[in-house]
Amino acid sequence: MSTSNNPTEIAREAFRQLAARRIPPTPNNYRMLYAEISGLASDREAFPEKELRHLAHELGQAVPGQSRLERDLGEVIARQDWEGVRRTLAIGFGALSEVQQLAWSRLIGDLFRQWENKSADITPGKKREALDRALAISASNPRALFRRLENLQRAWARGEATNDIPLTDADLPKPEAAPVASPPPAAPISGRVAVLPELRELFAYALENCIAPLLAEQPQFFNEAKSFAQAVRQANSLAQLATMQATLKQFAFRLALSIEDQAELRASLLKLLRLVIENIGELLQDDKWLAGQIEIVRDIVEKPLSQRALDDAEQRMKEIIFKQSQLKLSLQEAKDALKHMLTGFVDHLASFAGATSDYHDAIEACARRVVAANDINELESVLAEVMQKTHAIQLNAQRSRDDLRATQEKARAAEGRVRALEQELAETSHLIRHDQLTGALNRRGLDEVLNKEIARAERHELPICLSLLDIDDFKKLNDRHGHAAGDEALIHLAAVIRESLRPQDTVARFGGEEFIIVFPETDLKEAVSAMTRLQRNLTRRIFLHENQRVLITFSAGIAQLQPGERQSAIVQRADAAMYASKKAGKNQVMVAAAP
Ligand code: GH3
Ligand code: MG
Ligand code: MG
Repeated sequence: MSTSNNPTEIAREAFRQLAARRIPPTPNNYRMLYAEISGLASDREAFPEKELRHLAHELGQAVPGQSRLERDLGEVIARQDWEGVRRTLAIGFGALSEVQQLAWSRLIGDLFRQWENKSADITPGKKREALDRALAISASNPRALFRRLENLQRAWARGEATNDIPLTDADLPKPEAAPVASPPPAAPISGRVAVLPELRELFAYALENCIAPLLAEQPQFFNEAKSFAQAVRQANSLAQLATMQATLKQFAFRLALSIEDQAELRASLLKLLRLVIENIGELLQDDKWLAGQIEIVRDIVEKPLSQRALDDAEQRMKEIIFKQSQLKLSLQEAKDALKHMLTGFVDHLASFAGATSDYHDAIEACARRVVAANDINELESVLAEVMQKTHAIQLNAQRSRDDLRATQEKARAAEGRVRALEQELAETSHLIRHDQLTGALNRRGLDEVLNKEIARAERHELPICLSLLDIDDFKKLNDRHGHAAGDEALIHLAAVIRESLRPQDTVARFGGEEFIIVFPETDLKEAVSAMTRLQRNLTRRIFLHENQRVLITFSAGIAQLQPGERQSAIVQRADAAMYASKKAGKNQVMVAAAP
């Protein structure tokens, strides 16, 4: 093909070639032939920028993790750099094929094998945590994900829980280039912040709802925690988070110091309380009725503090204080009456002593008159006076003796009453909520416990079960071995129940030979197994009466609290299930039907 610099020549030749090569005579084809004949590159307008941008965008969308390809292509297209387009595409597709070549099936197989491989060092929980971390960090970058999962699998094989290789840029998603066709998002979120929005929200939640309330008594910390929570929520760039980091760190350090102080304070308070309790007994030897109250507080400070124990102690303390204040009033009255009688008698004695000393004086005077007497007549009148005075004093003495006897009797009665009241006072400490025979809670104690446990279960949305049990053929046991043996059997059963229960479970004597057990934080399945365990224990720990083995069995019903169910309703359901156990042949445990 000849070339020429003459545009007319070139144009003519271009038309000729269109015809000769049977190329459709479109403007583009003409332009192409013109460039070819003239030896010039096709002009700038011929660069298919629009089409290429479109293609780049489509590619970016179609190939996950390759948004960078779209951005790089965008740059070379903007420069109308054909060579650049070729190079970028070559690199992009090279990387793509590399991703496709990653041996996913082998990796997944290895991961599953290691997952199922039981190891003492790595619990399933730890594995899950490490996997979650790997997924969260590199989910949007297949190559990084592959590398992390492979390392994780190798770490598990070595018996290590996690492969904490440091984060690299490759692990983070690339910032998305804005697609040409659509406008960029209003507030672009970049870097790690975008990967972990849930973690950020969780952190803010913990600051606001867990840390701040703990600091209610320190307003400055409280406010700081609240405002940090807000700031964390609003931070939507790495830079913003980085600036917060320093202040947060400082806050955490100051908080840790304050927490240490508080722990120290609490320990000192408890120490002081222990000291008071240990010594209060010495100070109050006479006030035996305080024993119950002191015992409650001692119980509390000896165990780890828990809300349940504190509530319980508060309730018991209130009861004891109320009952004791009533009894103490009666006791005071009785003591006052006794005092009154004694002072009355002392007054009487004093007047008697007064009277006898008057008598002495009179007799002395008479004696002097006898010495001085000159005639018998005078002596007669003295004698008459002595007789009269002596008679009066005799009468007085007799009256005093009678009074003394009566007062003595009254005082003895009053003293007896005082002693009985004091005894009762000392016992109330222990017996207000407990059954005297078995030491289990009585109905009143049960009411309180159930009220509290049901409220707690509803508040924390936890299951709670209740079981009612009734001894089988107890009347026969009484008839055969006597009422006292029956009492002992009840004591024995209560002891076995207590031994079989967890500390948080409660046993109460509901009636004659019926007991109720409350199982907090327990579902039906667990309650059934607890009751069957009790049945087993009861056959093992056989009841001995006068060296005779007496088998005790019971029938029981179990009910789980339904939403909104009242205390009386759940007891009724358990009772109905217990009755069904009796009807089905006794010595068994049945579950109550839902209401
Ligand atoms: P069932 O298997 O159907 O429950 O028969 P049962 O004999 O156990 O039941 P019933 O209700 O007929 O009898 C209960 C007996 O329990 C009657 C009562 O004298 C006795 N009882 C109740 N309270 C006490 C107590 O405190 N001590 C003693 N020894 N016996 C008691
Ligand atoms: Mg009964
Ligand atoms: Mg019975």
